[in-house]
Amino acid sequence: MQNEVNAGALLQQMNKLDFFVLGSGSSGNCSLLRLRNNWVMIDAGFSMKQTKDRMRTHNVQLDDVQDVVVTHFDRDHFNPVWCRTFLHRGIRVHLHEHHVTRAKRAGLDDSCIVPFNNRLELHGIEIEAIRFSHDALGTVGFIFDTGRVRLGYATDLGRVPQQLLDRFIDLDAIAFESNYDPTMQRQSNRPESLKSRIMDGDGHLSNEESIAAICHIASESTLQHIVLLHLSRQCNSPQIIRDLYLDNLPHLQKYVTITSQERCSRLLSIEKEPMQAT
Ligand SMILES: [Zn+2]
Repeated sequence: MQNEVNAGALLQQMNKLDFFVLGSGSSGNCSLLRLRNNWVMIDAGFSMKQTKDRMRTHNVQLDDVQDVVVTHFDRDHFNPVWCRTFLHRGIRVHLHEHHVTRAKRAGLDDSCIVPFNNRLELHGIEIEAIRFSHDALGTVGFIFDTGRVRLGYATDLGRVPQQLLDRFIDLDAIAFESNYDPTMQRQSNRPESLKSRIMDGDGHLSNEESIAAICHIASESTLQHIVLLHLSRQCNSPQIIRDLYLDNLPHLQKYVTITSQERCSRLLSIEKEPMQAT
């Protein structure tokens, strides 16, 4: 009887992923994902106070987190203030093997570092890791796959490589960057060098590049949620993105959540119907 209850609970956990974004943008990125009742942090780009405060929005505490996965080590994705806390709490930091040196330079202790290459497993959940170009060391995108539910997560992409489109299939939800409006970017008073760093294919995705990729991915997936990340405060606006979806993908608009730098998102549940016994 006990085994049946446990098997039922396990199936339930595999049929559902809970996910929320604490905040996203060039001043800090952090998301939380529940893998079989364990909250896992994706990036740790905020201060400790801000992180704890925002976690509380959905009744999550730092004690609930034992694992962090890191996309890359730019300051807005990994705030070095966390190094001591991760060490003292024995929190494991999962990072791409190419980022190990960079992580140590940020102050992360060896004992916290769990390197991965193209896949890892956390709490019995498969995570595919895909490396993309972004500045010098690149960034990593993930597919969290319970065997029933698949969430794709990718931000700070210089461009959308074919490899991403090949791998981001059969998703139930996607969290994806939509960084800037090209007109606002061009007309901004930013230095030309910064504009070209962002727009030259190693920086960030424009709204147009992002929606084109989403359109392709949606055609090979059944998306319940499209979570847009890393909006530029200076060169983007939620209204521009809403209009873009309305004009180009009106049937997907109801699935879109636009995240913000300042506020925690709502709690998003990605769910599959339980499989029928045969
Ligand atoms: Zn970033």
